[in-house]
Amino acid sequence: MEFIEVVSFDMEKTLIDSGFSDLIWEDDIPRLYGERHGLDFATAKRRVLDAYGEIGDGQPEWYDVDYWFRRFGLSGDWRELLSGRSGDVRVFPEVPGVLERISDRYRVIISSNTIREFLEVQLATLPDVFSHVFSAPSDYGTVKNDAFYGKIYNLLGVRPSAVVHVGDSWKFDYKAAVKGGVTAFHLDRSGESEGEHVVHDLQEFEVMLNRLEDKGLE
Ligand SMILES: [Mg+2]
Repeated sequence: MEFIEVVSFDMEKTLIDSGFSDLIWEDDIPRLYGERHGLDFATAKRRVLDAYGEIGDGQPEWYDVDYWFRRFGLSGDWRELLSGRSGDVRVFPEVPGVLERISDRYRVIISSNTIREFLEVQLATLPDVFSHVFSAPSDYGTVKNDAFYGKIYNLLGVRPSAVVHVGDSWKFDYKAAVKGGVTAFHLDRSGESEGEHVVHDLQEFEVMLNRLEDKGLE
């Protein structure tokens, strides 16, 4: 019988929606690229999205605004984009209450593929309950994979089997976490998938945690 010590959350599309990031990646950067290269917005956006696609979300560069500024030849401080969009971070409605209750019982952390500078802006909208905030690209130059999960649990001094992680990405939050030895839940806010380890919002996740606690982690 093993008990839960740490509950780990993904950030984007799990605690907050993707509006803040989408505006920066799909609006601000294409606009700057268009201005720099004399292109209309639609053409600039197509080229920028094509370039993102060449790298793909399995590479840490995908998440790295500094890399894209250099690659696109953009000048100025990219951090200004973040402060310009800080009012566009939207927290899912059930999140504050769930975080307050869960953090009364367990250590609560963030495990994210988002770079630290984004996370700092996003965290300002959430209750101050996190003991650790991990960014795979900023802290380890990687994306969330089994080795990343292994490293952070080592650092926290807990066995993977005492950790439960939840996030919206089947690949980065469910498959990689399970491979790293933790109990994981796939958050599908669309409600399309069903399964033993699928939840549709974080209130459902809280119910699953209570069930796990009752019977001891498997
Ligand atoms: Mg996510």
